[in-house]
Amino acid sequence: MTGNNSASLYFHIPFCARKCPYCHFYVLPDKQELKEQLLAALSLEWKREFPKLQSREIVSIYFGGGTPSLFGPRAIETILGWIQRDAKLSSQCEITIEANPEEGRLLTAFAQTGINRMSLGVQSLDEEILKQLGRKHTREEALSTVHALHKAGVQNLSLDLMYEIPKQTPSSFENTLKTLATLPITHISLYNLTFEPETVFFKRKQKLTPLLPTPDESLRMLEMAVQYLEKMGLRRYEISAFAREGYHSIHNTGYWTARPFLGFGPSAFSHWKGRRYRNIANLKTYEENLLQGRSPVDFEEALPHPQNILELLAVELRLLRGVELGTFETRHGPLPQETHMTIQELIRKGWLTRNENIIKLSEEGLLFYDSVASELI
Ligand code: SF4
Repeated sequence: MTGNNSASLYFHIPFCARKCPYCHFYVLPDKQELKEQLLAALSLEWKREFPKLQSREIVSIYFGGGTPSLFGPRAIETILGWIQRDAKLSSQCEITIEANPEEGRLLTAFAQTGINRMSLGVQSLDEEILKQLGRKHTREEALSTVHALHKAGVQNLSLDLMYEIPKQTPSSFENTLKTLATLPITHISLYNLTFEPETVFFKRKQKLTPLLPTPDESLRMLEMAVQYLEKMGLRRYEISAFAREGYHSIHNTGYWTARPFLGFGPSAFSHWKGRRYRNIANLKTYEENLLQGRSPVDFEEALPHPQNILELLAVELRLLRGVELGTFETRHGPLPQETHMTIQELIRKGWLTRNENIIKLSEEGLLFYDSVASELI
């Protein structure tokens, strides 16, 4: 799946019915003229970029956003048509689209487009918490959409789930987990709420902070999530990802293991040949650049050695299977001597374990991942 010639594609489709108060993504209103503008611009970007993919096999395609399902099945089919025409898809290519539960049965139409995985922004199954998050859907809508998608043949269904939300209690979170256990899902991405600059929540941070669960309650929620999800057969395989056997996200695993990917659309990131770059986060300017035959990239960096490989090591350590150091060094080059000493130190602190040449986060290391990463980088 992640051979030397594999690659992934990401399409940023920024439309949302309304902006959630905690969201910091580049989002546009759900308007037909903007969708047409985006599809035309994406076609120009595709023509510019696809020759890079010539010796590559595409193992995953991800439509993220925004709410990419608002783009509609026809637009998604059009893009998949370009990819099939101009690039080589692996026979097992994972093709994911993000969607929101309020779209309900409309989403079942994607099952006919080549999409074989859906990621639903459910976040919670508690009405109060959904209101607190400013989400448009209800608990009932979330449940009926999951069942409708399963019935329509979407076998690989992931849900986003959030904790550490103002007014959330361990018992409300436990109720959500109990209901999840009854659903035909294959994957969960679990996030804690963060207050990102330039969001409504950030501006209201002072008011909201006293309503947040205490650190002890948040830790309990995380522990409960691990217990409940594992009991459901969804094993934790990355710090924030849980899956049934055979349903690890191929796309996200690429991010954690340095698989090259090209990002398309305004604000999309790419990671290609050691360079990391991002498109302009503005549809109009992004389109103008492409129309004039210019690159739509407005930020790029190539980290110098050894920071580049230290960052890759820290990111790959997010996977619970750990990192086999021999394989890592063969792929990316030798780690500096000091890093081997830092690894020893992290083992001594109890944040990493080592078995032969595999290093892994310990139970405690999983809780202190940010500190582990910053010590390594
Ligand atoms: S639906 Fe998702 S992308 Fe859209 S505003 Fe809400 S959190 Fe942001």
